[in-house]
Amino acid sequence: MHAVAALTAAGAALVLGAATAMAQGPQGQAPQGQTVYVRAGRLIDPASGRVSENVGLLIRDGRIVSVGVATPPPGAKVVDLSRETVLPGLIDVHVHLTFNAEDAGPKALTISIPRQAIDGVHNARKTLMAGFTTVRNVGASHFTDVALRDAITAGEVDGPRMQVSGPPIGATGGHADENLLPEEFNYESDGVANGPWEARAKVRRNFKYGADLIKFMATGGVLSHGDSVGGQQLSQEEMDAIVTEAHLWGRKVAVHAHGTDGIKAAIRAGADSIEHCSFIDDEGIALAKARGTYLDFDIYNDDYIMAEGPKVGIEPASLAKEHLVGQTQRDNFTKAVRAGAKMAFATDAGVYPHGDNARQFHYMVKYGMTPMQAIRAATTSGADLMGLQGRVGCVSVGCYADLVAVPTDPLKQVEVLEHVDFVMKGGVVYKGAAGETP
Ligand SMILES: [Zn+2]
Repeated sequence: MHAVAALTAAGAALVLGAATAMAQGPQGQAPQGQTVYVRAGRLIDPASGRVSENVGLLIRDGRIVSVGVATPPPGAKVVDLSRETVLPGLIDVHVHLTFNAEDAGPKALTISIPRQAIDGVHNARKTLMAGFTTVRNVGASHFTDVALRDAITAGEVDGPRMQVSGPPIGATGGHADENLLPEEFNYESDGVANGPWEARAKVRRNFKYGADLIKFMATGGVLSHGDSVGGQQLSQEEMDAIVTEAHLWGRKVAVHAHGTDGIKAAIRAGADSIEHCSFIDDEGIALAKARGTYLDFDIYNDDYIMAEGPKVGIEPASLAKEHLVGQTQRDNFTKAVRAGAKMAFATDAGVYPHGDNARQFHYMVKYGMTPMQAIRAATTSGADLMGLQGRVGCVSVGCYADLVAVPTDPLKQVEVLEHVDFVMKGGVVYKGAAGETP
């Protein structure tokens, strides 16, 4: 069954996921056929920008079937959030659930692939409990992300809905490769490809083993050994080949790119999103706007890397690169917001500890978004980028019943999202059932 799932449209796995979780969810509060009635004190609908008071939501088989129902129907399980502000479950389109922030630098070499998979189980739960009910995992070793996604879909592991990329594709010695070991170890990462046809072969291989989307490395990175953070690492031909191949399969492409030229080459290749965007220039922003490319700025983790990096073993060279990126990336975020580019909430969790994802909201507002814009980035826009619009990141009829709640108004103080006290995914309550009546 898994083989079939892997070979057919990956989106279908996500669609099936909710129903399976309903039936087999470990907490089992919402068996198939049960109606759940959520009484929301305030409901934020990011799609319309509307905020409504005292709204009743009816949920059946993990989906919202009615909005604005005054009283619970007989027999419905009632979830009382009448003192809370309710909004759609949050979406982070850039995480690495199988990586831990404290396993930085050479220590990463000591973490086996099976251990990474187990770390993923732990981190998936943390992420869900932090209110992130959907994530896009853009980079993992040896398809640990596929295994994790499938275990969550099967209801065996608590975690967010996942789209996964498998191993990122990149050049020999580039950001996707492992550059810490000397030549006699003769090791290269599983995503390494050189030349358009090798790159296409890696795209096909990733889909063969269950990836939903493709991630490739257009430029150097902060945490990779021996490369320059802004330097372009794949040619235009290689990027064109990867994007063309992935799109033939009907799948999307996320591109790691800090450097100005690499960003523009990736946008020209037709990438669906640029991750990091650190040194994007005005032409790059205009190009992204014209092509509808998402710009995903991870503007929280600089704080963590600079404060904790030396303690967790991040190399001095990487800290120096982060120093180049940090403030520039935040300033360019402001420019992209002002230009009206498409932007989704993307944090690079795994570079900093999982579960702290919502700390980025503060920075998105500080650097130019309104709280509603930041919430939209983490709901409506994330769903659009993932091709899941109308299914996640929304609170209308037909959407999955993925909901979070907070005690105060996130439109007044967005930081309250760092402490969600209620999480529902697919109609199943995972956190904070207080006030619930059987
Ligand atoms: Zn990343």
